[in-house]
Amino acid sequence: MRLTRTATRSTLATGACVAVLALSACGGGAAEEEAAPAAEPSVAEAPEFEEGSTMATIAEEGAIQIGTKFDQPGFGLTDLGGDPEGFDVEIATYIAGQLGLGADAIEWVEAPSAERENLIEAGEVDLVVATYTINDLRKERITFAGPYYVAGQQIMVNAGDTTIAGPEDLAANPDFIVCSVTGSTPAENIRQYLAAPEQLVEFEGYDDCVSAMENGQVQATTTDNVILTGYVAENEGAYELVGEQFTEEPYGIGLAKGDTAFCEFVNEALASAAEDGSYEEAWTATAGQYEGTEVPTLPEPDPCV
Ligand code: GLU
Repeated sequence: MRLTRTATRSTLATGACVAVLALSACGGGAAEEEAAPAAEPSVAEAPEFEEGSTMATIAEEGAIQIGTKFDQPGFGLTDLGGDPEGFDVEIATYIAGQLGLGADAIEWVEAPSAERENLIEAGEVDLVVATYTINDLRKERITFAGPYYVAGQQIMVNAGDTTIAGPEDLAANPDFIVCSVTGSTPAENIRQYLAAPEQLVEFEGYDDCVSAMENGQVQATTTDNVILTGYVAENEGAYELVGEQFTEEPYGIGLAKGDTAFCEFVNEALASAAEDGSYEEAWTATAGQYEGTEVPTLPEPDPCV
């Protein structure tokens, strides 16, 4: 099943405003204007790979399908032209570059939280870079490269709402409804703090949660701090985070189960992005523009199994 909302980056060659790492060239808020100048993505010239490997197949095809989020500011969010932008998009674009593929060879496939393993198993995508927490349950179906970032779960409320100071206060406030996304780790993690299962409402994407907060249908949204930070920044004065992060969410890159050679290749690509400065640049041009974020250091990779 290919999700309906797909977008290709074929317009990249002509569309300067959607060029990789070119957020600063796209105008917009003050924070964007302060971003580092855009860098050209590096594309390996005629790289050679072992015959029959996933890398060789993708390089020969000259095209790659990548799953990412389309509705998460800072990590994966479609711009007005329908092209996604964000830290995940930059990381994925760098990996494609190491395969010898430029941005115009990427087909972006929307990968909602609950669909990520399905997309990989069905072969609809070659990899998924989508705020995707590495965990054992998911490892039963797919292989993760990375991690390339470590986030943590937090709660976002309407600005000035002091009903709760963290997840521990939820059980005592059963009418304070929390929203999260089906198939996400935060939706599972939050259950232990609730007065009853009905205190959690789940939607397909975080945009739906934020709309439900606007409508007053729910009082909070919970997911990874970096995703919530994006919503806080994009809706000035409307929302705030309460309490500290209460989980660790190491972000991995989802691949077909057992493809250890591809996993090792992706880990090498991540190491090379950290070494040549692309990792930091990708952060600074995207999620790093939001207040309160810090430039991360690339975590040590997990073994590819
Ligand atoms: N990192 C969490 C997860 O993989 C939450 C973010 C998301 O839903 O993509 O489930």
